[in-house]
Amino acid sequence: MSGFVEKLRGIVGDRGLVVDDAGKAPYLGDWRENFMGAALAIVRPASTDEVASVVRLCAAEKVAVVPQGGNTGMVGGATPDTDGRAIVLSLNRMNRILEVDPLGYTMTVEAGVVLKTIQDEAARHDRLFPLSLAAEGSCTIGGNLATNAGGVQVLHYGNARQLVLGIEVVLPSGEVWNGLRALKKDNTGYDLRDLYLGAEGTLGIITRAVLKLWPRPKDIATAWIAVPSPAAAVTLLSGAHAASEDNVTSCELMARQGIDLVLQHIPGAADPLAERHDWYVLLEWSSTRPRREGEAGLAGKMEAYLGEAMEQGLVLDAALAQSEAQAKAFWALRENHSESQKKDGPSIKHDISVSVSRIPAFMDEGLAAMRTVLPSCRPVPFGHVGDGNLHFNCMAPVGWDKPRFMEVAPAISAAVYDLVVKYGGSISAEHGIGRMKVEELAHYRGRIELDTMRAIKRALDPANLMNPGKVLEV
Ligand SMILES: Cc1cc2nc3c(=O)[nH]c(=O)nc-3n(C[C@H](O)[C@H](O)[C@H](O)COP(=O)(O)OP(=O)(O)OC[C@H]3O[C@@H](n4cnc5c(N)ncnc54)[C@H](O)[C@@H]3O)c2cc1C
Repeated sequence: MSGFVEKLRGIVGDRGLVVDDAGKAPYLGDWRENFMGAALAIVRPASTDEVASVVRLCAAEKVAVVPQGGNTGMVGGATPDTDGRAIVLSLNRMNRILEVDPLGYTMTVEAGVVLKTIQDEAARHDRLFPLSLAAEGSCTIGGNLATNAGGVQVLHYGNARQLVLGIEVVLPSGEVWNGLRALKKDNTGYDLRDLYLGAEGTLGIITRAVLKLWPRPKDIATAWIAVPSPAAAVTLLSGAHAASEDNVTSCELMARQGIDLVLQHIPGAADPLAERHDWYVLLEWSSTRPRREGEAGLAGKMEAYLGEAMEQGLVLDAALAQSEAQAKAFWALRENHSESQKKDGPSIKHDISVSVSRIPAFMDEGLAAMRTVLPSCRPVPFGHVGDGNLHFNCMAPVGWDKPRFMEVAPAISAAVYDLVVKYGGSISAEHGIGRMKVEELAHYRGRIELDTMRAIKRALDPANLMNPGKVLEV
């Protein structure tokens, strides 16, 4: 294969090629440390033309391509398999912001730009790019679009699919589809853009995107709230929509078990409330209307609403952030959930969704289902309750190592997913399928849906070289 590697070098140069084992290592395993693969080379093109040339070469030589952004995905989608015959194509050198149009509320970027950089650039122009998730300092917009990422503001702004107008894609043939249109309306045949969003790199490589921007909020209220139950959290959220004048931008639910793990493993984390409670909500309202001199603004409205909710027994205690730093500290308790669980030991993650009003019943039945399979397991449910999306996670019993827990994990997952189906929900609300959930997708999606997906994959990637083994077996 040395001839092939030299041809790659001819396209991307020395800076764009990693072939030594130490250099390749960070690209070959996933964030959760579930998968470790092998690759002929890590290829880091610097432009769409270079991506296209690499993909054309791979098509000619029948070499599989695994696209990779920030490598923060939760389902192993960016990890190559172990046979070592694929390349990893990293977009991390394609990290330029190409244009900001504050008048038209758009930003055009290369796929490898880190999400936080996009948020900061939008803020510099007094605009907002609302996609926000705990991995935002490392994940890339290409990965966000390829996974149709969700995050903590979906209930107000939508998921990644709703935040983009146009994309440019390198197809498995190496041709470039220029769909970089900044159009709000375009009903000209099938929506090709939507096909690539959420395809997890199995249909092509997203190289550039035109993103939508929003006005930057000028008044933000954030509260850390202890609630008696998930049912109270859902009722609290339901009333908050009207009480905030439709300004609820985030509503996150957490169980005490998750807070305890954050306090134990994350330096500097502190409980905002004096007493321990079983359930917490992190509620954020934001508005583009600035708070005027002497006005209580959204914080005043939120305080009044929480006071009423307390009288109704929906709220046990609450702390309203008095500063940006305090709001950040509340958010850190939520955003460090994944990190602290990783530090604590083996766990399985169920990124599920059901309709918002069915969350309380699902929570009761789901916790019971996990404990029926393994009474000593440690459930840590949390998530975007406003989207009906729970990370219905389960930590191994204390003292268990990963191999022992993984023997029983499939039975726990099957119990959870069967229940999700009973509730008409989804077995992957925002993380995607990757290589981790290929079997589950085949089991839980209907024949017509799977046949249609396979037909699309075969039509666009007949040689099955674009991220093979992910999402679907063809
Ligand atoms: C602490 C933590 C918190 C998280 N929170 C959330 C959350 O709240 N919501 C959420 O949705 N996700 C969350 N995630 C998962 C992850 O951050 C997202 O899936 C993110 O969108 C992945 O971006 P990435 O650049 O890291 O992609 P990668 O992990 O590199 O790749 C993900 C998938 O996209 C493909 N891909 C990457 N770039 C491209 C491209 N340019 N063209 C085509 N395909 C491509 C890969 O092949 C792979 O299948 C979290 C992850 C972590 C570690």
